[in-house]
Amino acid sequence: EMFGQLTSGLESAWSKLRGEEVLTKENIAEPMRDIRRALLEADVSLPVVRRFVQAVSDQAVGVGLIRGVRPDQQLVKIVHDELVKLMGGEVSELVFTKSGPTVILLAGLQGVGKTTVCAKLANYLKKLGKSCMLVAGDVYRPAAIDQLVILGKQVDVPVYTAGTDVKPSEIAKQGLEEAKRKKVDVVIVDTAGRLQIDKTMMDELKEVKKAINPTEVLLVVDAMTGQEAAGLVTTFNLEIGITGAILTKLDGDSRGGAALSVKEVSGKPIKLVGRGERMDDLEPFYPDRMAGRVLGMGDVLSFVEKAQEVMRQEDAEELQKKIMSAKFDFNDFLKQTRAVAKMGSVSRVIGMIPGMGKVTPAQIREAEKSLQLMEAMIEAMTPEEREKPELLAESPTRRKRVAQDSGKTEQQVSQLVAQLFQMRVRMKNLMGVMEGGSIPTLSN
Ligand code: GDP
Repeated sequence: EMFGQLTSGLESAWSKLRGEEVLTKENIAEPMRDIRRALLEADVSLPVVRRFVQAVSDQAVGVGLIRGVRPDQQLVKIVHDELVKLMGGEVSELVFTKSGPTVILLAGLQGVGKTTVCAKLANYLKKLGKSCMLVAGDVYRPAAIDQLVILGKQVDVPVYTAGTDVKPSEIAKQGLEEAKRKKVDVVIVDTAGRLQIDKTMMDELKEVKKAINPTEVLLVVDAMTGQEAAGLVTTFNLEIGITGAILTKLDGDSRGGAALSVKEVSGKPIKLVGRGERMDDLEPFYPDRMAGRVLGMGDVLSFVEKAQEVMRQEDAEELQKKIMSAKFDFNDFLKQTRAVAKMGSVSRVIGMIPGMGKVTPAQIREAEKSLQLMEAMIEAMTPEEREKPELLAESPTRRKRVAQDSGKTEQQVSQLVAQLFQMRVRMKNLMGVMEGGSIPTLSN
């Protein structure tokens, strides 16, 4: 089973959170070690694993509770979303030129499945309604040319050949001319692979690339080679400049390292994946489906998503109602400030607000102190006072009591009450509702 080992490695992480109520720095430590181990065993490179684990832990500790969702389910969702990001987020589509043939140059080491990919790709594009032509540019192995011709027949796509005595760049040029004459939509150029990277191969590829100015230069890599595949994509990109990769043999017991690392390591996306020897075993690389396959928990993911959506909606609606009716009270105030505090340090939240720029540690301490201060005062209020801040605005006696019970000054309490009314107005303004919302002056 593809990714089987990775999937079960991750499962042990979730299982350690059973019975927990929330995700904390302490209780995610062991699951995070499991995740780290599982990724390393899947042959993802260490720097990638480190960044991944850091990103997941940061989010896990800051995540708010969602009603009905268990912490382990929340962690599954966070890992899923980070996996999708790691693999490039969106699907990376092939680019086609608007006029003239689109030229796709295929490169890759020997045995990775490049010849097979040529025919599979033509077959795939034919299904998209594009006419194709293959160009046999591997002049070192006559057998490779024969193989391409056979595969071309299988998928019913013409193959341009010029024997083994012509330079690959020349063959590619001739093939492209032929394609233009025949008004073919896409030309797929096969090139010679070597067992290892060498200068002759790279020089030849550069020459072919220069001769035909391809729309896409795709490197075919074998998923079974794990993080080495990501290294190859990086090298080929630096040497000849590529537009993406095609990952083959995902049907084997690939451990997943290649699929997970290529984008992060090389900066180039995987555009297509091969998952079998048949001609229709080639498909676009969908990061989200791939992440779903790695986790093997489609139901949990959609459940968490739905719960998040419901909560966002309920919260937003409730808050909106309160704002509209100027009922935003100290309970909401507390909920908001606590939600902010739970998201991690105030600094992170401030850092996320565009235009806020750098915040000094002193400012952060200041903000956190003022949160604590507010909490203490709100806790000293009666339930009635929290719901009807007007009571406090109208009564100095009440403010005095709150000050005494919370150990703060009357002035501080007055400030807090004024702040709440200012917030009501600001929020109303934000919502574009201008009427009402005057700030009462505190009576003495
Ligand atoms: P080339 O040397 O890179 O041109 O590689 P070939 O196209 O000749 O393929 C090498 C071997 O890998 C052949 O036996 C193919 O059938 C096999 N192969 C190619 N792609 C896949 C794939 O996605 N899955 C599996 N299981 N085998 C593949």
